[in-house]
Amino acid sequence: MKVLVINAGSSSLKYQLIDMDSEKVLAKGNCERIGQEGAFIGFKAPDGTKIERKTEMVNHTQAFEAVKDALLDPQYGAIKDLSEVSAIGHRVVQGGSYFNKSVLVTDDVIKKIEELAPLAPLHNPAHIQGINACTKVFGKDVPQVVVFDTAFHQTMPEKAYMFAIPYKYYEKYGIRRYGFHGTSHRYVSQKMAELMGKNIEDTKIITCHIGNGSSITAIKGGKVIDTSMGLTPLGGFMMGTRSGSLDPSVITFIAEKENVSAEEMLKILNKESGLLGVSGVSSDDRDVCAAEQQGNHRAHLAHEMLYYQIAKTIGSYYVALGGCDAIVFTAGIGENQPQLRETVCDYISCLGVEMDKEFNKKAKCGVTGTLSTPNSKIRVELIATNEELVIARDTKEIVEAL
Ligand code: ADP
Repeated sequence: MKVLVINAGSSSLKYQLIDMDSEKVLAKGNCERIGQEGAFIGFKAPDGTKIERKTEMVNHTQAFEAVKDALLDPQYGAIKDLSEVSAIGHRVVQGGSYFNKSVLVTDDVIKKIEELAPLAPLHNPAHIQGINACTKVFGKDVPQVVVFDTAFHQTMPEKAYMFAIPYKYYEKYGIRRYGFHGTSHRYVSQKMAELMGKNIEDTKIITCHIGNGSSITAIKGGKVIDTSMGLTPLGGFMMGTRSGSLDPSVITFIAEKENVSAEEMLKILNKESGLLGVSGVSSDDRDVCAAEQQGNHRAHLAHEMLYYQIAKTIGSYYVALGGCDAIVFTAGIGENQPQLRETVCDYISCLGVEMDKEFNKKAKCGVTGTLSTPNSKIRVELIATNEELVIARDTKEIVEAL
């Protein structure tokens, strides 16, 4: 069985074609600038050659036409006939309180994703466009599945997901903590339990997904009990360009002083804050590392703040879980930035964490493994996340059960 995995944004679309027998990626690419000037598709040929083609994409349907052409390309394609694609799995950012697991796409499911658009205005409408465009290009008979970023977090208790604001806003608008990156937290926590040789029901795991967007989750017995992101992916600790959680008065203070609208304020907090805002260098951690090495104080400060905030979040989840068996680092920064992991582990050495600093230095660019020493009271692990594989596996499972 071959499953096409889709991550559709408002102006971009990423895809992977995965062979489910070997779980190997057969094709991979992305469409950028959909609906804009200069749209193009970039993909990797089976021999590794990178191809980039400019092509008109006024909407998502045209983007899927370009994906279809790339998959079927006589020279660079991965399949001979479209019928080889057995099913399609879509990433959906916001599943609200409706969805606690992946589901088959039906008219009712589409309606609910649409209904949740006010909670994810940039993402959910784009996902719907992606699903509808897929139906047009691949036909009604190819089953489609949706996998939600929020679903894994639906087990959180009320005390963890409610905000201390008037209750009527929860009732009226569904304002609460939903949490994101659920697919990644689910994948690495299950892998961690496997690596420990334990039944997941008997584990307490803290998973740290540190990338351009970042979140940390507390998982007890395989179920999320708390997570750092909130109503939207802006909540939690600082990220590439996002501020994370703040004293709310900071927001009204700046808005009043600078005379900026709510929308502009959200842009400042989502796009101009975090590593970028503090360092003034870049949102990309590699640039911040380079600047710090050259003695840039603000790059150093941005890192110090990030490491401190991560350590504090882990500490609070240690308490929430009533102890912890394992801590996992994953995603772009978590998998590639030894200094971040070392500093965080220094902070939490008071919990009995002992790091193998030599191995930690080597653990990057695909090198994964146990970062703690055998004496450490908590196992610390680097696991490479793979959200696309989870989406493909869920899709296969649901489609095979039809
Ligand atoms: P997202 O999926 O949220 O866009 P990623 O998980 O890909 O983000 O993480 C992107 C971040 O990871 C960037 O800040 C980037 O600098 C960092 N990163 C990726 N690869 C490396 C690397 N080899 N060394 C250091 N940082 C890296």
